[in-house]
Amino acid sequence: MKLLAPERRILTRDLETPQLHTLSVYESKGGYQNLKKALKMSPDQIIEEVKKSGLRGRGGAGFPTGQKWSFVPFQSGKPIYLLCNADESEPGTFKDRVILEKNPHQLIEGIIISAFAVRSKKSYLYIRGEYAEAARILEKAIHEAYERGYLGKNILGSSHTLDLVLHRGAGAYICGEETGLISSLEGKKGQPKLKPPFPAVSGFLNCPTVVNNVETLATIPWIIEHGGEAYSAYGVGTAKGTRLFCLSGWVNKPGVYEEEMGIPLKDFIEHYGGGMKDGAKLKAVIPGGSSTPPLTPAEVETATLDYDCMTKFGTFLGSGGIIVIPEHFSLITLLERLTEFYWDESCGQCTPCREGTGWLYKMVKGIEHGEGTLKDFNDLQKTAKSMMGTTICALSDAAAMPVLGFLKKFPEEIKAHLKTSAAGDGV
Ligand code: SF4
Repeated sequence: MKLLAPERRILTRDLETPQLHTLSVYESKGGYQNLKKALKMSPDQIIEEVKKSGLRGRGGAGFPTGQKWSFVPFQSGKPIYLLCNADESEPGTFKDRVILEKNPHQLIEGIIISAFAVRSKKSYLYIRGEYAEAARILEKAIHEAYERGYLGKNILGSSHTLDLVLHRGAGAYICGEETGLISSLEGKKGQPKLKPPFPAVSGFLNCPTVVNNVETLATIPWIIEHGGEAYSAYGVGTAKGTRLFCLSGWVNKPGVYEEEMGIPLKDFIEHYGGGMKDGAKLKAVIPGGSSTPPLTPAEVETATLDYDCMTKFGTFLGSGGIIVIPEHFSLITLLERLTEFYWDESCGQCTPCREGTGWLYKMVKGIEHGEGTLKDFNDLQKTAKSMMGTTICALSDAAAMPVLGFLKKFPEEIKAHLKTSAAGDGV
C-alpha cells in the first residue's frame, strides 16, 4: 500500500501547527509568499498553470478549474465576481470545514490569487449558516488580511485590488448549487436558475461570475508555488492531485484525511479509518456524499478513489464523503433518512423534484414500515428514474440516484421488507 507521505501533503501538511488560523503563524509557515509570487505573474499565466495542474472542482461536479476560469468574458466591461462556495451541506461531507476552521488564510490566499487570475475586484465567501464557528474564525482572518495589506486596494503595492466579503447563508442545502448560491447572495430565495447562461457569462447581478469550492481555492497557492506540472504528477489518469476525503460511518477512526487520488478504497478505509468498528462485516460504502450510489463489498475490493473507477461502478467521487455501512445496518432505514432529507431540501420549482422527492420518501417509509408491496418497489424505481435529468438543477438526480443505486445493488435486502399478501401483490 503506497500512502501519501506527510511532507507531500498539499492541504493538510501544516494542519497540526498550533494557532495556524492566525496570520502570524500562517506567515511563519510561508503563508502569503505565493500571493507575492502570483502578483508578479500575469493573470493568463496563472490560468495556464491551473490548467496544466489538471485541478478539478472539489465541490462535487469535478469540472476542470482552469477551463472554468477561461470561460469568463474578460473584455465585457462588466465587473467580474469570484464567489467561494463554503455552503458545505452534503450529508457525509465535512472537509471544507477543516480548512475554514484550521487554515483560513490558505483559503484567503487562494481567493486573492484566483481573483487576480479572473480579473475580479470583489469576492464573496458564502458560508453555510450552521458553520458559526468557522464564520467567526474567517471574519477574524479576513480582518487580519486587510490590516496586513493582503486585501483591499493595491495589494502589496500591485495593481490588484480585492474586497472580500463574508456572507452567512441561512442553512439551505440547495444554496450549495452555484446558481442557488448566487440567488441567495442577491437577496432572493435561494433557488437555482436554468442554464445557460452559465454564471461565468452571466451570474451574480448578471455579471460574469466564477464560483469555486473551498478546497479548490485553497489548493491554488500550492500550484503557484510548485507549478501546474508538479500538481499533475500527483494522482492518476483524469484524477490529478490530492483530495480531502471525509470518512464516516462504521469505522474506528472517522475523520478528514488527505490522500492522493487513485488510492485503493479498501486501503484507505483500513489505514485511515482503522478498519471496521467492532470487527463488523462491511455491507456497503457510499463513496462521494449521500447523493452517490453505493458500492458493494465486492466492488470495494477493487475500487480506487478516482473519477474513472467510480464511473465504472456506476457511481461518483462527488464531494469526497465516504460513508461506511456495516452488515447490521438496515439499508431501508438509511434510504428513509436520505429521501426525507432531499424531500425537505427541494426548493420546489420543478414538478419532478418537488413531487418526486416526496413520493420517494413516502414509498421508502412505507416499505420500511412493512407496508410496501412489490408494486411499490417497482413504482419507487419508476419514480426515481423519472426524476433524472428533467429539472433545473441536480438535486432531483441527487435524490433519485441513491434510491436507484440501492435498489439495483441490494434488491434482496430491500425486498425483504415488503409485505406478502393473499392477493399476491407482495414478494
Ligand atoms: Fe429546486 Fe429541485 Fe428544481 Fe433543483 S431540481 S431547482 S431543488 S425543484
